Amino acid sequence: MARTTIIAGNWKMNLLPDDAWELVAGLKEELVLKANLEVAVFPQSPLLPLVSGWLDGSFITYGAQNSSQHDSGAFTGEVSPLLLRTLGCKYSLVGHSERRELFGETNETVAAKAKALLAVGIKPIVCVGESLEEREAGSHIEKITNQIKAVFASLEPEDYKDLVFAYEPIWAIGTGKTATADQANEIHKVIRGQIKESVCEQIANSTSILYGGSVKGSNAKEILGQSDVDGVLVGGASLQLEDFTKIVQSF
Ligand code: PEP
Repeated sequence: MARTTIIAGNWKMNLLPDDAWELVAGLKEELVLKANLEVAVFPQSPLLPLVSGWLDGSFITYGAQNSSQHDSGAFTGEVSPLLLRTLGCKYSLVGHSERRELFGETNETVAAKAKALLAVGIKPIVCVGESLEEREAGSHIEKITNQIKAVFASLEPEDYKDLVFAYEPIWAIGTGKTATADQANEIHKVIRGQIKESVCEQIANSTSILYGGSVKGSNAKEILGQSDVDGVLVGGASLQLEDFTKIVQSF
């Protein structure tokens, strides 16, 4: 079974409604539906109801950048996965390195968030990846496999098929430094191998693994052409209509 290629635009804490509308309107005009391709945008949560309305009837989907591990309660400032489902989110990012590094999310928090999302029918895109120091010290593979193991340890077998992973080397995020296509593919194979070890070969072969880290229109084709790369998670370039369109058209 061919894996779904997902091209995801992480808008991070950018875009006010007018600019977001312009971008979405442009994407609706430029992008065309293709077999095995999904395109999703990830706005700030308060923009989700607007984006949902603008994308009504479009093949482009949307998701959240973060969500709570709790469904409801006294968690000021958090966003409930139940609310995200009500707003029509298909996906949510989980454990983006900015959440892990700046907001102290641990492997355990990330696993709990993934579990809470799956419980309400939202597919988590679990982000994993190493810092430059970890890569230079040769501990990157251990770090990434531990991040993956922690997620599977908390889930039920029926949930395994709905996970998506994104390999995002921290040193390549927002820095303009992209992992080479070979470097990305090598780690994607490691991730697929770990999924096989944690679960089984069938799930390993059907799970989409995205690459993220300074993907642009100019390098997307080579990255997307790798055997184990099943899409890209794009930050900065997803805010530019022309560049994001070029990335999607590289598939
Ligand atoms: C990201 O935020 O997930 C990301 C990969 O950012 P950028 O494309 O800007 O490196």
